[in-house]
Amino acid sequence: MKFEKSQKLYEKGLVHLVGAVNSPVRAFTSVGGNPLFIKKAKGSKIIDADDNEYIDLVLSYGPMILGHRHRKVQKAIKKALKNGYSYGASTESEIDLAEIVCSAFPGMDKVRFVSSGTEAVLSGIRLARAFTGKDKIIKFAGCYHGHQDALLVAAGSGLATLSLPGSKGVPEGAVKNTLISEFNDLESVKKHFKRHDDIAAVIIEPITGNMGVVLPEDDFLKELKKYLESKGALLIVDEVMTGFRSKFGGAQELLGVEADITCLGKVIGGGFPVGAYGARNEIMEQVAPLGEMYQAGTLSGNPIAMAAGIATLTELKKQNPYEQFEEHAGIIEIFLIETARKYKVNLVVNRFGSMLNPFFRKGEVTNFEEAKASDSKKFAVFFWEMIKNGVFLPPSQFESWFLSSALTDKDIKKIAEAVDKAMLAVS
Ligand code: PLP
Repeated sequence: MKFEKSQKLYEKGLVHLVGAVNSPVRAFTSVGGNPLFIKKAKGSKIIDADDNEYIDLVLSYGPMILGHRHRKVQKAIKKALKNGYSYGASTESEIDLAEIVCSAFPGMDKVRFVSSGTEAVLSGIRLARAFTGKDKIIKFAGCYHGHQDALLVAAGSGLATLSLPGSKGVPEGAVKNTLISEFNDLESVKKHFKRHDDIAAVIIEPITGNMGVVLPEDDFLKELKKYLESKGALLIVDEVMTGFRSKFGGAQELLGVEADITCLGKVIGGGFPVGAYGARNEIMEQVAPLGEMYQAGTLSGNPIAMAAGIATLTELKKQNPYEQFEEHAGIIEIFLIETARKYKVNLVVNRFGSMLNPFFRKGEVTNFEEAKASDSKKFAVFFWEMIKNGVFLPPSQFESWFLSSALTDKDIKKIAEAVDKAMLAVS
């Protein structure tokens, strides 16, 4: 397998782009080697600059749930393009996407579209503060909620990959109202409420994907919600990754919990830059122009992005691929476990619907500390062997793999064969 053109582009990119990437998760820092440059993609496959073809289990870190360039999504985008790209005024498509999104989340009467998951969360937090009149926020170690100052503490995703405890450039004042709890540990939340009476909200990835996949235990989220209600604090569920992915109604539908504020992104833009936050009427009425919580965006509700989002969610509802996801991801999970056993590799696989990933370690992974104790060197060997065998994975032990509905049985077989070779290389 040759990577010559990717290598050349990498060297060219280094001149004017930091690390030749526009997001650190795209660098191959933790697996060693240089990033691949992508030329195009179609369905379940992605093709790099050297014409190497891979089955794509990155899917742009989640959004491409129908696979790449789905016929109906592409048709909708082309149609929208004919009219214009951006007006600084409202369009009908925003109402249509809002209707679909609100219908999927019972706790959401109104939604506001923004342009990224980061924006969705930072606005959601501002909203929680505006509604409660309190300042402090609790987040869980290992959860990643975008790159806003206040939440770049004990964060997963690229920070975990690069072993960064936080980010330089974040002033102390920006994080002084951020408290950290442990995922799956309600007592670590209660501890903060005993010390502080100005906690506005707890924000959580309901099923984390940013320290790798970690599932909430039993009724953790339900208990958390009940406890927060008793304290007059809000539950912000960050479904940027899980929204429309684990179920049409997101992790909330699956776990039977209703957020006070829901943050969305990724899938709802069908591959275009969209984020959203929403809540029941009494909370959303805080937002300008109805209320005094200000939040705005030049490109918010962009008509091309709205068209891609509407087409993606409409097709997703029609396909209802969640059983197929369960089946395909289940096969990959079993294959990982069986080959690890065969080659005597210590491995645990965490999976939730179409999100899964292996951790190279002995024993379960239920929180950030356990995730961080995995063997990243083994993952790096595994990663490159998967690449060589035609499967594109996130270049990090701390990122979820994603499945699309375009994945075929033939693809699954190919993934299984690659896993066998990669596990042998690790052993
Ligand atoms: N929240 C979660 C759970 C995420 O996974 C991400 C990104 O991966 C974000 C927020 C930030 O979204 P964006 O990268 O679109 O700003």
